[in-house]
Amino acid sequence: MSSTKYIFVTGGVTSSLGKGIISASLGKLLQARGFRVSIQKLDPYINVDPGTLNPYEHGECFVTNDGAETDLDLGHYERFLNMPTSQENNITTGRIYQSVINKERRGDYLGKTVQVIPHITDEIKRCILLLGTKQKLDIVITEIGGTVGDIESLPYIEAVRQLKWELGPTNVLYIHLTLVPYLAATGELKTKPTQHSVKVLLENGIQPDVLVLRTEHELTDDIRRKVALFCNVEFESVVQSIDVSTIYEVPILMQKEKLDVTVLRKLGNLKSEAPELEPWKNFLKRLKNPKHKTRVALVGKYVELADSYKSINEAIKHAGAVNECSVEVKYIHSEILDENNISELLSDVQGILVAPGFGERGIEGKILAAGYARLNNIPFFGICLGLQLAVVEFARNVLGLKGAHSTEMQPKTPFPVIDLMEEQKGITEKGGTMRLGAYPCMVKKNSVIYKAYRKENIEERHRHRYEFNDKYLEAFESAGMKAVGINPDTCLVEIMEIPSHKWFVGVQFHPEYRSTVLEPHPLFVDFIKATLA
Ligand code: GLN
Repeated sequence: MSSTKYIFVTGGVTSSLGKGIISASLGKLLQARGFRVSIQKLDPYINVDPGTLNPYEHGECFVTNDGAETDLDLGHYERFLNMPTSQENNITTGRIYQSVINKERRGDYLGKTVQVIPHITDEIKRCILLLGTKQKLDIVITEIGGTVGDIESLPYIEAVRQLKWELGPTNVLYIHLTLVPYLAATGELKTKPTQHSVKVLLENGIQPDVLVLRTEHELTDDIRRKVALFCNVEFESVVQSIDVSTIYEVPILMQKEKLDVTVLRKLGNLKSEAPELEPWKNFLKRLKNPKHKTRVALVGKYVELADSYKSINEAIKHAGAVNECSVEVKYIHSEILDENNISELLSDVQGILVAPGFGERGIEGKILAAGYARLNNIPFFGICLGLQLAVVEFARNVLGLKGAHSTEMQPKTPFPVIDLMEEQKGITEKGGTMRLGAYPCMVKKNSVIYKAYRKENIEERHRHRYEFNDKYLEAFESAGMKAVGINPDTCLVEIMEIPSHKWFVGVQFHPEYRSTVLEPHPLFVDFIKATLA
């Protein structure tokens, strides 16, 4: 194929309809037909990236191999497509303006007035096209954040409107996702919100080619016909997206709705083989027919919002499917955990995962949870801050270093077992300044985790400032907590384990970012396996 085709996914009526999952599912179907596909997210907020956002705002911050801090939808794209994304897959209004303002300061605009149209819209178009050409893709799916009609998303809508005219009608396709609410009182599904939402798009110059209708009840042909007629789309282009028990079922549903077939026909009758979805279906079968059951505690301070730990939750699901078991996650707020309630709260779990995090809130609860797991021989998985606090607990209670801490929480601790790297000490800016992205790690052959990884050279993604202080390494190792993963270039400790324990592993990186449906992460798989033993 000569040129890249572009699919734009917008949303209307309400947010949270699952644009990310629809985009990822369509991407999966097209990829399974042999096309080279990637998915991109345009976020209308002014933050340059979500790295500085509290998880309560937009959920977890996802991290790519190249160290970009991105929207959590990129996690869905990777888990569905089993392909890494990069900075180019996530663009924010902040990033667009930053780049335009930098160009203005350089003098690139030669005395012109710099405006939303054409300068901001041109920069948006440049970023959209860059992904397709740089990675030589057949199809780029671009999800536009927010809902149509928002002031913030207008420049994006205008930019993608222009692209259809510039690239030609068979190279650009618009998919609009809306909600068809069910009125229980009258027992009816209502299409009016969809009609209004399409009207807003039309006011902005975009005629959607395909409508995906999110619904709790089956749509009748009459409803589809009505929507088709009032919204100027073909009957076949009205697609139902009904609620399902797992997001991983959506590609199969979209295939039943022939979304892929419709899209390919509209993109100039693109030819392809039937999609190869056997491995995906096998995963679904395992996920939906578990033979065993296990319960793990997730100890964190953002547990009120499940999206805060999105990738961890999904990695646990992938690992459950491999082990043919359903995993119940018991969320425990680290702030409420104390010596009096810990045995009650943790007595009914078979594994304990201490989550990543920043700052002081809920720290002692996480330390207690690590200690409880260590003393009671309960499988323990500490991720990033979770590792750091397991180290603090071990220092205080096994090595007898009273007051040991991370200098993040207690800069004046007498025993800084977790401390800043030299390079981090002078840094005052917050955005994008952590140790970010993929780094190599050497796994020791005689370790417990080697049995999970089955290789010595691994690469994992990071997002943190603080590190294990190797001044204390000898003391830890002689007391039974071993460094079993080391960065070969910097010698930083990346993985610690207690070999005498049933399964006690802490990692400085974020394995959850690398778990996908077709390649579940070996550490999550092994952790869940240990909870079943
Ligand atoms: N706050 C810790 C650090 O910056 C851990 C970060 C995390 O858990 N991602 O090192």
